[in-house]
Amino acid sequence: MKNLCILGCTGSIGVSTLRVVAEFPEKFRVRSMTAGSNVRQLAEQVHAVKPERVAIADKDMIPEFKNLFGAGAWKGEVLGGVDGLVELAEEPQSDYVVSAIVGAAGLLPTLAALKKGKQVGIANKEPLVMAGPLMLAAAKHSGATILPIDSEHCAVFQSARCGETKEIRKIILTASGGPFRQASKEMMLNATKAEALKHPTWSMGAKITIDSATLMNKALEIIEAHFLFDVPYEAIEVWVHPQSIVHAMVEFTDSSMIAQLGLPDMRLPIQYALTWPERLDGGLPSLPLEKMSALTFEAPDRSRFPTLDFAYDAGRRGGTAPAVLNAANEQAVALFLEDKIRFCGIFDLVGKALAAHTVKQVENLETVLEADKWARQYVRSQMA
Ligand code: NAD
Ligand code: MG
Repeated sequence: MKNLCILGCTGSIGVSTLRVVAEFPEKFRVRSMTAGSNVRQLAEQVHAVKPERVAIADKDMIPEFKNLFGAGAWKGEVLGGVDGLVELAEEPQSDYVVSAIVGAAGLLPTLAALKKGKQVGIANKEPLVMAGPLMLAAAKHSGATILPIDSEHCAVFQSARCGETKEIRKIILTASGGPFRQASKEMMLNATKAEALKHPTWSMGAKITIDSATLMNKALEIIEAHFLFDVPYEAIEVWVHPQSIVHAMVEFTDSSMIAQLGLPDMRLPIQYALTWPERLDGGLPSLPLEKMSALTFEAPDRSRFPTLDFAYDAGRRGGTAPAVLNAANEQAVALFLEDKIRFCGIFDLVGKALAAHTVKQVENLETVLEADKWARQYVRSQMA
């Protein structure tokens, strides 16, 4: 029996994780769960799952959360703020932490879990992009195991089991291409929020859906793959695969290419990350072979989607550059979702922030957090 802490349980990945866990009551127990501010949904989940402890990042929402329970309906403990999230991520009663907060907000609790030597299933890619070397060093030092949940990285993880790391020639990450795969530059310039939020194949939270429309999601995944699988940037390729069936491929030195295929449903990578090294039947449907009658792959349009070059550039510059890429993007996406900038403004702001940044070596967490803060301020200053 594994005791789980689910960070970000009210999100898209959090909800899918609870669905997977419900299939294996004899294997997993949810010890604790955390949410940002959506206490209504958290209360419903707590009623169903009955964890021992919960944490709410927005402390001001704690009274409202408590009001949602009748006396005696649930006797668990409620913590608040980042400290509360960190406490749940590192408490010894949990063996496995699912990292499913969105954005940089997941860094401290995820790092805390890694420092305590836990198994950590990582969907929350932004902290890896910001602070990959620190997270890997923490895992190495404590003996923590990182299990990728991001579908492409779960696919690489599975495919890579067919050979040695030194036998990997390249990694190919696939991208759906998002809603603007075939759009003209003009259409993209005037794209509305509703258009950008309409993902063709995956149903996900708002931030990652915008990242899929700019291909920034794939950009972040290039850096994520570099850190997780220790492969150089020149060995990581991105191909647009609109059907979202082949999640990633690994080519080995002998030219053998191994791919992982599946329906676009995050329950599969979540389940693999939870049950690894075993494979279990969680009731997920088989991939109908007729879905494979027209699998296509095309090179991404690097001029309409400059985000991929931003990632290769920031990744190769190293140090604080990936943290700046991530933070500038988080800030720009927030501005787009608040209707303060146009869709292509995301490209402009991220590109400018990267160009203006003086890269520092990442020696500690403070350097990363400073770079993150600088990039957010820089992007906001461009609005003034
Ligand atoms: P989401 O927006 O649906 O959920 C985010 C979760 O984080 C919620 O529980 C929310 O309450 C919590 N949260 C938000 N801000 C917070 C804060 N400041 N402090 C603490 N908690 C906070 O996001 P999602 O789509 O589930 O994505 C989660 C992560 O997983 C992202 O990093 C995303 O890139 C990654 N991911 C998602 C998918 C997917 O299919 N949704 C696939 C691969 C990777
Ligand atoms: Mg992905």
